[in-house]
Amino acid sequence: MKLFMPERVFFEPSSLKYPLGEELYKYFENKGIEIIKTPIQNVSRSIPGKTEKHKYARSKKTLVIATKKSLNLDVCKPSADFEFSLVTNCPGNCEYCYLQTTQGFKPYLRTYVNLEDIFSTIKRHIAKNNGDVTTFEVASAGDPLALEHITGSLGKTIEFFGSLDNGRLRVVTKFSNVDSLLNLKHNGHTRFRVSINSRHVIQSFEHNTASFEERIEAAAKLAHAGYPIGFIVAPIMVYEHWKEEYLELFDKLRAQIQIDRLSTPATFELIQHRFTPIAKQFILQRFPGTKLDMDESKRALKWGKFGRFKYVYPKETALEIKEYISTLITERFPGAVIDYFT
Ligand code: SF4
Repeated sequence: MKLFMPERVFFEPSSLKYPLGEELYKYFENKGIEIIKTPIQNVSRSIPGKTEKHKYARSKKTLVIATKKSLNLDVCKPSADFEFSLVTNCPGNCEYCYLQTTQGFKPYLRTYVNLEDIFSTIKRHIAKNNGDVTTFEVASAGDPLALEHITGSLGKTIEFFGSLDNGRLRVVTKFSNVDSLLNLKHNGHTRFRVSINSRHVIQSFEHNTASFEERIEAAAKLAHAGYPIGFIVAPIMVYEHWKEEYLELFDKLRAQIQIDRLSTPATFELIQHRFTPIAKQFILQRFPGTKLDMDESKRALKWGKFGRFKYVYPKETALEIKEYISTLITERFPGAVIDYFT
């Protein structure tokens, strides 16, 4: 996997008051990468691009170094009690990514340098929880591992959680640069959920992310380094030979993960492919030749809050996916926990 390097970096002036902000400034200066100091509200219009496709591509190569201003954390049910961000967005180009619709026309990456403020906020939320364990999701707005070789922030956060009695961290990733995390004092307080999929789905739709083999290898390294491990199998797609390809996935996973070295049972979250009308519009503009199956006539409607709906597989197909993938998991990972299928 080629590690991400931006083609231009914006520094919000307040970021340079923090040690990590200064460090990053020197880092990019030494690399000869274009640096622009400007308030965050100017970033969007400073990114070049005439067409939607061009703007999208340039934004994905733009990094903003910023400070996290609002330090009130959102609730993140059912995955965790709260969510926070070290990074928003990611350099991957997954055609179906939910960030397509939530992060607007110029989905540039942002990383926050005021880690101590973020850690104080986390402690404040734990203190309000009457001594119970409080869980925090760090990857709901982006993939923090994708920038770890530049910022080192995820490693610092893992060690911070390792030092807490009642705080637990949850990470999701489609990247594989985990080597710098293997010897950290994580204390078993961080659960990594590696996003995995069939070879076809990764190769066809998850551009600029770790490959099929790299993700399995990264998951094995994390599991054998004592991290509680989990897998998000998403989006599960039905296509010719899907059963053979998911079989290959779980066979390969089983061959590399030594179950007797797991610190806790592996967890699995299963999510079938879905799309909304607005996501389909964005995807067709950004990936005009997409092979994603978004034929509404072959799908069922699933209604959500506020009258919103998405297209999912019809009930019988969804049941077939659930049963087939669950069997593959339970046959190979006895004792594993399947958290949900949706
Ligand atoms: S890696 Fe995750 S966050 Fe990044 S584009 Fe893919 S789905 Fe979206």
